[in-house]
Amino acid sequence: MLFSAEEIERLSNEFETASPQEIIAWAVKHFCPALAASSSFQTQSVPLLHMISQIHPEMRIFFLDTGMHFWETLIFREQLERELSLNIVDLYPDSRWSVFLRQYGKTLPQEDPDLCCYIRKVQPMQKAMSEFGIRAWISGIRRDQTKTRARAKILEFKRDGLLKIAPMLNWTKADVMAYAEAHALPRHPLPLERYPSVGCKPCTRPVNPGESDRAGRWAGQGKTESGCIPRCSRKTPSLPTISN
Ligand code: SF4
Repeated sequence: MLFSAEEIERLSNEFETASPQEIIAWAVKHFCPALAASSSFQTQSVPLLHMISQIHPEMRIFFLDTGMHFWETLIFREQLERELSLNIVDLYPDSRWSVFLRQYGKTLPQEDPDLCCYIRKVQPMQKAMSEFGIRAWISGIRRDQTKTRARAKILEFKRDGLLKIAPMLNWTKADVMAYAEAHALPRHPLPLERYPSVGCKPCTRPVNPGESDRAGRWAGQGKTESGCIPRCSRKTPSLPTISN
C-alpha cells in the first residue's frame, strides 16, 4: 500500500474541507488502475457518477446485479451508462449458487437477508475486487444518511486491506439535489413514488411522511447496510469463499 495508516488518517482529516472532485482526483492519481467505484444507481448516486465521468471516465463502476432490483433501477442504470459514457461492470452471484438460488432465491430476502446479501452482493464484490486487482474503491455514502454513516471517515482502511474512499461524505441531500439540478442530470423515477432510497425490491418499501429516507430499507429486519463486507463475512464464516 502506498500510504501508511497514519498518513491515511492525516489525509482523511485534511479532506474534510476538500471538494468531492479534489478527493476523486487524488484517488485517481494514486490508485488507478487499481481503483473502482461502486454504485446502486439511484438519483442520489448521479452526482458522484457525473464527477467520475468528468475526471476519469475509464474508471470501473461496479453494479451489483442481484436479480432483485426494481425494473426502474435497471432502466436507469442503462440510461446513465449511455448518457454519461460510464464504464460499468455488472456483478452477479457466483454460478455455484445457481441451484440454491433457483430453489430458495425468491424467499431468501425474508428468510435470511444477511445470507441473501452475502450471496448476491458481498461475495460478487469480493471476487471483483480480487479479479481486477482493486486496492481502493470509491463509495457514494453521506454522513446525513444514517447514524452509522455519520461516523464514517473520508479515507478508511477496511479489514480486508482495501482503502475505502467516500468523497461525498460531507454533502447533504440538498447538495446532491442542487448539483443534479445545476447539471441537468437524469433522475430515478421511484423517489416520486415515496421511495427516496431504492434498494432491492423485496427489501424496500415506500416511506411515510416524517420517516427518514432510508426507513424503507429492510424495514423491520434489523438491518441497515447491504454490501457490508466485514459484517456479512463475520456473520457467515463457514460459507465457501471464491477461489481465483
Ligand atoms: Fe437480498 Fe434484500 Fe440484500 Fe437484495 S437487499 S441482496 S434482496 S437481502
